[in-house]
Amino acid sequence: MTEKNLFVKLNFILSALEIHQLPEDIGLEVALCGRSNSGKSSVLNALANNKSLARTSKTPGRTQSLNVFSFSSDNLRRLIDLPGYGFAKVSKKDRKNWGILINNYLNKRISLRGLVLIMDIRHPVKDSDLTLLNWCEETNTSVLILLNKSDKISKNQSTNSRNTTLETLKHLKIKINAVVFSAKNHQGINSLKKYLNECLDLEDSPNALG
Ligand code: GDP
Repeated sequence: MTEKNLFVKLNFILSALEIHQLPEDIGLEVALCGRSNSGKSSVLNALANNKSLARTSKTPGRTQSLNVFSFSSDNLRRLIDLPGYGFAKVSKKDRKNWGILINNYLNKRISLRGLVLIMDIRHPVKDSDLTLLNWCEETNTSVLILLNKSDKISKNQSTNSRNTTLETLKHLKIKINAVVFSAKNHQGINSLKKYLNECLDLEDSPNALG
């Protein structure tokens, strides 16, 4: 199977408002996280080369849910799109529920193998991003940072932002990979695919969709 096929067949499975609504906790998962508007949906669409894949997760009521996508017909290789954080209009109660849901997911999910953390390259490493990165350090969870929307700034500015990000995070005792990325022109997409392949063993999955 070509690498391309591994990703174009990424398909939406379900939205879960509670942990028990997720697929059974077997197989391998990577979670996509980031602030609202960082471009999570666009990254998903870029990965699958399908402009409407993540639309489902944008329908009202689903923005606060965990959206599950699968790479394999047996659904044992999954991407979990976590609800975006830092959304100013969210009520206190919803924010609390969001925290509980994410905490439950991150701390209880056995299949979770890694995080893809998406940031706007012009505003990297906000407090909420750091909270997640601290969690990665505490639990020794692998993470790939995508510095998204690189097409909005110059190459020099992109390099500077990446360097600043790495400098800000150098105190963490885990390996931090930060990739200059653009969901719009697909810069950095191969690094994302490589990371997903590593975490999810996609090439070795007998049931990977092709
Ligand atoms: P989400 O809330 O994190 O799912 O973010 P979206 O994927 O909906 O993106 C938020 C906004 O940023 C939309 O207007 C996108 O078109 C835009 N956007 C996302 N990624 C990129 C990118 O790489 N380049 C540019 N120029 N715009 C982007």
